[in-house]
Amino acid sequence: MAPVGSSETLPGGPLVADVLLLLPLAQTYTYAIPPSLAGRVRRGAQVDCPVRNRPVSGLVIAVRPPRDDDPPRLSPLTEVVANRAAWPSDLMDLVDWAARYYVAPSGVVARTAMPSLFARRAPKSEATVRFVQHPDVPPRSPRDKTILAALEAAGEMDMAAVRALVPDGITSIRRLLAKGCLRMDTRAPDVADAPLRPTHVERPVPTADQADALLKILAAVRADKYAGYLLHGVTGSGKTEVYLCAIEAALERGKGAIVLVPEIALTIDLRRRFEKRFGGIAAVLHSAMPETRRAKAWDDVLSGRIRVVVGPRSAVWAPMPNLGLIVVDEEHETSYKQQEGLRYNARDLALVRGTLAKCPVILGSATPSLETFQNAHDRKLTYLSLPSRVLDRTMPPVTLVDLRYQPVIGGERLFSQPLRDALATTLERGESAILFLNRRGFGRFILCRTCGTAVRCPNCSITMTHHARPERLCCHYCDHATPVPGTCPTCNSTDVEVLGFGTERVEDEVARLVPNARVGRLDSDTSPGGGLDRILGDFRTGKLNVLVGTQIVAKGHDFPRVTLVGVLLAEQSLAFPDFRAPERTFQLLTQVAGRAGRGDTPGVVIVQTYDPTQYALQYASTHDYLGFAVAENRMRRERGYPPHSHLAAIEISSPDAREATKVADDVREAVSQFLMALGPAGRKVIVLGPSAAAIERLRGRTRQQMLLKGNSRATLNDVLWRVQRMFGNGHGDTRIVLDVDPVSLL
Ligand SMILES: [Zn+2]
Ligand SMILES: [Zn+2]
Repeated sequence: MAPVGSSETLPGGPLVADVLLLLPLAQTYTYAIPPSLAGRVRRGAQVDCPVRNRPVSGLVIAVRPPRDDDPPRLSPLTEVVANRAAWPSDLMDLVDWAARYYVAPSGVVARTAMPSLFARRAPKSEATVRFVQHPDVPPRSPRDKTILAALEAAGEMDMAAVRALVPDGITSIRRLLAKGCLRMDTRAPDVADAPLRPTHVERPVPTADQADALLKILAAVRADKYAGYLLHGVTGSGKTEVYLCAIEAALERGKGAIVLVPEIALTIDLRRRFEKRFGGIAAVLHSAMPETRRAKAWDDVLSGRIRVVVGPRSAVWAPMPNLGLIVVDEEHETSYKQQEGLRYNARDLALVRGTLAKCPVILGSATPSLETFQNAHDRKLTYLSLPSRVLDRTMPPVTLVDLRYQPVIGGERLFSQPLRDALATTLERGESAILFLNRRGFGRFILCRTCGTAVRCPNCSITMTHHARPERLCCHYCDHATPVPGTCPTCNSTDVEVLGFGTERVEDEVARLVPNARVGRLDSDTSPGGGLDRILGDFRTGKLNVLVGTQIVAKGHDFPRVTLVGVLLAEQSLAFPDFRAPERTFQLLTQVAGRAGRGDTPGVVIVQTYDPTQYALQYASTHDYLGFAVAENRMRRERGYPPHSHLAAIEISSPDAREATKVADDVREAVSQFLMALGPAGRKVIVLGPSAAAIERLRGRTRQQMLLKGNSRATLNDVLWRVQRMFGNGHGDTRIVLDVDPVSLL
């Protein structure tokens, strides 16, 4: 890479600037640097430049002497955005890398990276409104109530956003301000970010494993070079303490650190812990912050006032100058993959940024993704292990209950005798239970009650999805469809059934079957609007003693009273139509099991299944990650799925079903021709589909998808770029979305 941007004052005439406009464009434009701006235009600087006489924001990609192929008359840049440091070089390189890898215009990548306030010319309002307290008497106006509730949940919002919540919002805001329930700040508030002094914290003495891991990581931090680590530590093994010590070492060298966490909710605890240790130089950065505050935090990072950033996936773009360390906690979480707009994976970008910034990257997890595990196996990442929990707490025993041989109770056949007995005893002892089921929107499939297998596609080994009208089974990877079989294709048994049930059924059944159960339900229906906090609060205090829920209950919540975790039907996760279903099941069971017995009382886990021999369940029941990873890896190799191949998905959607099918066929035809033109390399790419997506109709659009599978990333990338050039993002109502390394194919 030529260091074109580094020298601004070459002798021999004025320089020009190549600028990336913050518009959905791939190409860069060249502008003259007027004498008034000489010396201030540098690589990574944000500038204003004229486009058809309108000012547009842009980023300077390079500053260089003019060339013969430049247009004869160049427009001059209008202005350099004042008081804002230039983006660090490694971030500019990351934008460039992501644009090429994810097949997107660089302008879109840059816009994704930065607060949207920066891309706009001038912020309309800098005012934000914060929640202070509830009034003594609850407000009578429903509008006031809405505003209070929204602000209480968010803490703080942009004035403009609050006003838009209800008609005539400003009147309500004024009323609530007068009562002292809200407070208005006319600029990004400093109060919450007031520099804290690091308090003296009692440092835990590192365990031998922690010390061992740190020895290696600290050596890399001090060597100022890239090194990738997989920190594999069971839940409660003290990974965070390792992160903190590594960050400290980076700070001592005058460098900064970025810490990625899977969800915004997890930043709150972590931030407190970081502030205690590092004082006010640690900050949270995420896309749901009020725009003014996010912009201020971004500026604080750029200028070096903030040197530790904690945030979800978008924080990978933090403009940290002099980056000394990147941490990705719970690296296996799918939330690191952005599912709309630019479909980047922050975990993968963190590794790329580490190489660009020449700093170490730590990927931490209790259940590493297969991709990361394979990288460690191939020595691309150094494997570090924290095999035991601190304080020597043991993992709860997991019992697999075979539903084929158990008397099943209740109309829905939801409960086996062992689970019902365990539930009754737990509640009698005054303890609590979590009942978990995996259900995400859909997921009806055919299960054989005799051999316990779900009907799978012969081509893809993916569970086939049951469609009601007309009744059939479909594979949404390759479009293979069959009538619903009357007998099991594996064992010929006639005891086959369409399966799939929701949390409401479970709630009713528990209340009916177990006398002293006080049941709460937690899923996407009950969680919005403060419901989540209320139910979790009631469960924590013991007002509720059984919590029925989906994924939401598995995440991070600590309930000391819980001594029983029941998984109602493992097949709901295992039979998920995704090649990663066993991996997700293993991760989920590990996570769910981690909810049991975190207090002083040990817990138990009961998993109901029709196939207890399934390897993901077997290894989860013995908490054996390595065993699982080896088995799963073998399976992936046999079936040609990542990490032993690379995938790319093309999604075509349209409000008109026929149009979606037609365009999908056009894209398929074009892809075949591209592959033919590529010769031998092209023949190694397998194209599946187009087929109806598993969720065929979503938000009023019919979706078709194609899956490209190959062993060369370069070839797949080449094909996608050709598709991009030929079809763009689609025409008219049709949309075409390219997804490199998809993590969810629904
Ligand atoms: Zn069978
Ligand atoms: Zn298939």
